[in-house]
Amino acid sequence: METPGSQTSLHRANLERVVRAVRLAGSLTQAEIARSTGLSAATVSNIVRELREGGTVEVTPTSAGGRRARSVSLSGDAGMVVGVDFGHTHLRVAIGNLAHQVLAEESEPLDVDASSAQGFDRAELLVKRLIEATGIGPDKIVGVGLGVPGPIDVESGTLGSTAILPGWSGINPSRELSGRLGVPVYVDNDANLGALGELVWGSGRGVKDLAYIKVASGVGAGLVIEGQIYRGPGGTAGEIGHITLDESGPVCRCGNRGCLETFTAARYVLPLLQSSHGPDLTMEKVVQLAREGDPGCRRVVADVGRHIGSGVANLCNLLNPSRVVLGGSLAEAGELVLAPIRESVSRYAIPSAARRLSVLPGALGARAEVLGALALVLGEMGDSTLLDSSVPAGSLAFT
Ligand SMILES: [Zn+2]
Repeated sequence: METPGSQTSLHRANLERVVRAVRLAGSLTQAEIARSTGLSAATVSNIVRELREGGTVEVTPTSAGGRRARSVSLSGDAGMVVGVDFGHTHLRVAIGNLAHQVLAEESEPLDVDASSAQGFDRAELLVKRLIEATGIGPDKIVGVGLGVPGPIDVESGTLGSTAILPGWSGINPSRELSGRLGVPVYVDNDANLGALGELVWGSGRGVKDLAYIKVASGVGAGLVIEGQIYRGPGGTAGEIGHITLDESGPVCRCGNRGCLETFTAARYVLPLLQSSHGPDLTMEKVVQLAREGDPGCRRVVADVGRHIGSGVANLCNLLNPSRVVLGGSLAEAGELVLAPIRESVSRYAIPSAARRLSVLPGALGARAEVLGALALVLGEMGDSTLLDSSVPAGSLAFT
């Protein structure tokens, strides 16, 4: 029996710290592992050697600051993770390995709001097809990350707001998909996954405190505090779209007046342009026209930016993030939207909260959520499957 504090359990704890650091970062030099785990260089060196001999990690030569170094990552074939992202109009699936490499990715149009059963049927088919196409043994899958376009109730695991996805009322997305695939499924909303995706692969790399803002049919924020997604006890943290900007403003779908959403979301913004630009506008089209110099669309994009900036200023005063990443198609507007956001932030946030803030466009575009789903599994899977070969990794049910 191991006793806490014994040499064996200390060694095991050190192994887990190193594996966890590498799993979350993708790859690290030995010096970086020492910094992030607090272990000595000699201990890290010994542990990396042991993990390499056991086939858990791979070590490749690299350079760090002009000096030769050794880059440590989890073995590519140690396990695979799957990401599934349901948007309102699409389904996207990605397969990655534990070294943070994306091996396959595909998306298809889907009316997700219509029927959850149809959505899960299509997701199951696409996951199994991609796994077969990449030639991976189904027993290598350690988990699936699943993104849904609405808040998940932390206690029940069901979608919290049925007004957003009426066809999904009472559905437990994690249970539904794990029943079909036979592996653990970790679920989160699209804004949180966008934040995780940008944190691990995109514009948030290297920071620990980040807010990811996504403007689509609604407005949401994914909050990363000290490197962790902050969800709150009810799973609704980051509902920035319902910050009040104008008490006598338009009535919002939530029942309040003048929410941030009523000045920024497509359903409220597009009607402003319909008499001048016709009825078939989408936000994507508005952004494209703004980039081409259309004065009306430029004005609307700038106004949206100023209003988002007011919300971001509130967020800065409360949470003091070091980076705000704008996701979704609005980010394609670049400085046309980012400059007004920065201007509002400098006007409304207290200077000490805004001083170290950078506001950047997302680097991953429409892939942010599905890559965040991969990152969710990499973050939550634990290390027992990697360190104990006696524990089976779970196997994907093929029927
Ligand atoms: Zn509202």
